[in-house]
Amino acid sequence: MEEQQAVPPEWDDLRDDSPPGDWRDLQRPQFGEQLREWSDILNDIYWRPSEDGRGEPGGFDTSAMQRLRGLIMAQAAETEAVLGCILRKLDPLAKPGKMMAGALLKKIWDKLSNHNKVAWQSHVRQIRKAQKRRNHAVHNRVDTGYTWAEYATGGGEWMPVITTMGNESCDERELSHDLALQQSSTVFAIEMLHGLSCSNHDPADRCPDWWE
Ligand SMILES: [Zn+2]
Repeated sequence: MEEQQAVPPEWDDLRDDSPPGDWRDLQRPQFGEQLREWSDILNDIYWRPSEDGRGEPGGFDTSAMQRLRGLIMAQAAETEAVLGCILRKLDPLAKPGKMMAGALLKKIWDKLSNHNKVAWQSHVRQIRKAQKRRNHAVHNRVDTGYTWAEYATGGGEWMPVITTMGNESCDERELSHDLALQQSSTVFAIEMLHGLSCSNHDPADRCPDWWE
């Protein structure tokens, strides 16, 4: 008898169609509400003795930096929501919900009149810069570099010496700066939305009727 060859599933068979609000399936994060480095998890799951007895370096607390990364991404999503409003203002038929942030801003730029391109160039430049920093925070992990410090009495321990993201060294102050860029970017986007919406702008009053 010939053995039945299993038919592999199609890509679409692997799609998750379950409803998002299935409360009975709520899970608790197995590592708690924190980020765990993959190398740390790997060492837990597939532990092996290290040849020199030093063990794997690890344990430096990067939770404050991870929190800032999360805030950078979340604030960028706020900016994106405003960019969606701007695009719909410029093109009522546009579907900004399906667009990546970079494409969204490019589309806005393409739809701006030459007059508005001149007027808003600085805003667009700074929003674009914030998007670049958001992408940096999304696509790079916080990586801690360690050095082995020998004890005079023998043995030693791993000491953290640097944290990097991608090929940049980084620390909490730099990530805080990137969060500042994201917050400013949301302000710039709101100013653009206002400027493109308010036909009779009066800096002296607060333009109460501009929002339609
Ligand atoms: Zn106004």
